[in-house]
Amino acid sequence: MIPVIALVGRPNVGKSTLFNCLTRTRDALVADYPGLTRDRKYGDGKAGEHEFIVIDTGGISGDEQGIDEHMARQSLLAIEEADAVLFLVDGRHGLNPADEMIANHLRRSDKPKFLVVNKTDGINEDIALADFYSLGMGELHSIAAAHGKGVRQLIDTVMAGF
Ligand code: GDP
Ligand code: MG
Repeated sequence: MIPVIALVGRPNVGKSTLFNCLTRTRDALVADYPGLTRDRKYGDGKAGEHEFIVIDTGGISGDEQGIDEHMARQSLLAIEEADAVLFLVDGRHGLNPADEMIANHLRRSDKPKFLVVNKTDGINEDIALADFYSLGMGELHSIAAAHGKGVRQLIDTVMAGF
């Protein structure tokens, strides 16, 4: 069985950047503005010896209407399809109400989930992480998807469960 890993989080936290890093493609559009990934996007992921399927999603902002509502629904479907969920947050912007909403949803799911603090390149990691312990999701995983930093270690941890 090839595990399925879903990437969820509010728009602009770096889900598509991580998707591209894991699939070694540029299939997912990366942008400075939120909301580019409207549907679920599937890719073949590879990290070291590990192989898995990765799902990129559009993101959940918490006040969805119209196309945003569609994106949020796609994210919830991706969580249902997944064997493990990577919940991404932005280490440069700190905790956001949408993060808390997503955490509340994930708490109700019995899937293995990993809180991933992205964009910790070039900033004080301890300060960047401090905000997110209050989400109550256990251990934090610090990465910089744009540079591949911490990604191998994260996937080793996730895949150890399969
Ligand atoms: P998504 O909306 O969650 O899919 O986020 P994207 O992958 O489109 O990235 C949003 C923005 O964050 C883009 O400008 C990326 O270049 C930037 N970004 C993503 N990962 C990193 C990172 O590790 N470090 C920094 N500094 N910026 C990042
Ligand atoms: Mg995206």
